[in-house]
Amino acid sequence: MSILTAPENKLNIYCPSLTEYKRRETITIKIGDIPMGSDYPIRIQSMTTVDTMDTQGSIDEVIRMVDSGCEYVRITAPSVKEAQNLENIRNGLHKKGIFVPLIADIHFTPNAAELAARIVEKVRINPGNYADRKRFEVIDYTDASYAAELERIREKFIPLIKICKEYGTAMRIGTNHGSLSDRILSRYGDTPLGMVESALEFLRICEEFNYFNIALSMKSSNTQVMVEAYRLLVQRLDQEGLKPYPLHLGVTEAGEAEDGRIKSAVGIGTLLEDGLGDTVRVSLTEAPEKEAPVARALVERYEHRAPHAPINPVENCPINPFQYTRRETQEVYNIGGLNVPRVIADYSDLSVEQHEDLKSIGHFFLPVPDKWAMNDQGADFIYSGQTPIPFMLPNGLKEIIDFKQWLDQNDKLNKFPAFTVKEWESGDQSERSSQLNFIKGTIHNFTVEFLERLRFANNIVLLIHSENHHAMPEMRRFFYRLVEMKIKTPVIIQRTYETDLGDSLTLYSATDIGGLLVDGFGDGTLLSPDFQYPLSHKQKLQSAAAYNSITFGILQAARTRMSKTEYISCPSCGRTLFDLQETTAMIRKHTEHLKGIKIGIMGCIVNGPGEMADADYGYVGMGKDKIALYRGQEVIKRSVTAAKAVEELIELIREDGRWIEPGTDETYNLS
Ligand code: SF4
Repeated sequence: MSILTAPENKLNIYCPSLTEYKRRETITIKIGDIPMGSDYPIRIQSMTTVDTMDTQGSIDEVIRMVDSGCEYVRITAPSVKEAQNLENIRNGLHKKGIFVPLIADIHFTPNAAELAARIVEKVRINPGNYADRKRFEVIDYTDASYAAELERIREKFIPLIKICKEYGTAMRIGTNHGSLSDRILSRYGDTPLGMVESALEFLRICEEFNYFNIALSMKSSNTQVMVEAYRLLVQRLDQEGLKPYPLHLGVTEAGEAEDGRIKSAVGIGTLLEDGLGDTVRVSLTEAPEKEAPVARALVERYEHRAPHAPINPVENCPINPFQYTRRETQEVYNIGGLNVPRVIADYSDLSVEQHEDLKSIGHFFLPVPDKWAMNDQGADFIYSGQTPIPFMLPNGLKEIIDFKQWLDQNDKLNKFPAFTVKEWESGDQSERSSQLNFIKGTIHNFTVEFLERLRFANNIVLLIHSENHHAMPEMRRFFYRLVEMKIKTPVIIQRTYETDLGDSLTLYSATDIGGLLVDGFGDGTLLSPDFQYPLSHKQKLQSAAAYNSITFGILQAARTRMSKTEYISCPSCGRTLFDLQETTAMIRKHTEHLKGIKIGIMGCIVNGPGEMADADYGYVGMGKDKIALYRGQEVIKRSVTAAKAVEELIELIREDGRWIEPGTDETYNLS
């Protein structure tokens, strides 16, 4: 019986339900003793970073990873000798009583895959480079020459399928946005469709040989592309009548620390919300044992997601979920339209006493030259609720005050009211701002009739929140309603989280807000703290700073507002040619003021240039103490020593006219 995850006659449906939490039903695949699929919990995995030829080092690292929660461990096998050494690693682990399934990571080397498939429980192949060498050529394929290419792939790939069948070895066909073959790029371009087709070319051959022990992945460091590609994959599997294979979720080259966690959550969390995903790997430029706890925190959120309060189902998704388009809104004041999503800092539980209190949200006073300044993460609005701020705000920062308190304010040019739906409906028309009014509510308050009444208003922004346990899909349902009704009122997304959630605060907010942003929804964000116990004023300010930083991080990770340099750094593996964490920290130190520039930091030249995808510049290991510097996909300097490489990278950025001396960034708006 074929299991369909999307009704065939419904447009743009890519998951079991857009409104009710359900895991997508998949077949079960066998990976050693730990099966994967929708009948089992979502599995956690990660990848080693030590050289695969370092047997003891690999064993020790695998043990640390298993202790941190990994259920599968991937190890790179760049050539036959590493593939062979997997046997020693596996035997060493077995001797210690550790039977975690091992996965060989293969790029370019079918003979290493064929050997590894006899040793370990699973092989991962990259369809972009299993049978192809990248030449960055755009070739005009005719149908006949394309078919001949597919025939060439078959010949190279069929032996591996036969070995996997014989040995009971599983396989992941893992597409990577940054390493699509020239063939795929020429026909489909650098698109989610190209990513999906890249995997399907290999998958169809597997099915022809009745080999189904397969998981699929569609990774990218661009969260929008990643989400779209997984969705499209699910739809295409259904449409073609292929089996519903389990999905391995991951965002490649997510980076480190908070940024890495946010980026991972925006991509992975968005898909988990829709019930997609059977195993998760979070790729951080940190020790591999740091990854599993993050993946675990993301996944655990769904263990008790259902049942939740019902959300009105949708027959058709009213947007194209496979291609990013921002919802069309009218500009109200400086919100919506073509404006970047606005950031509103919530100070409603934090009475502002002095100018210094604004430093937490990027606005500060410079004694010399005696002026106000803001950094790239300066909030646009402050929501002060019922405790209006007793002084005039600097840097164009505006204030939002609850309606009743707003009525008492003299300055109605820089302070704007926030109404409940009831206050708005029952209030006197003269007691409104002529420029900008916020109306707070949930999908239940913002009824169809209410929205109809707002249709032609040009001074209203809605502030949506949700009390549903399945919050992101409920808020998304509201955006669908606006799209269906062609209502162009801008909407701010509000979410409230307890301040003592630790890492989960970052992951949950990035999922809930990022999941809407990647679909083009949301003209701003209001991330509110819920103080669980009494905190000092200073602690509350620290919390405001953390919420502000997370908010800007989410906007950047969803690619909707760039406020800092973006680092696309690989998580490192046995191929890595320098200390990635140390190097990333050093490059960051020199370049973190270059707002909007994307810098790839890649451990090896074999996969690095492809995987850094759309980075503007690349710092790539090409040998011992040899760095290659890239502009986009073009190598500009080769064999630069590590001691000179950062300087040369800066020089390259300078040549392009994109270098700014630290501290002279023009975005430090002096007023
Ligand atoms: S780019 Fe980094 S993670 Fe990828 S293969 Fe090279 S060293 Fe390993």
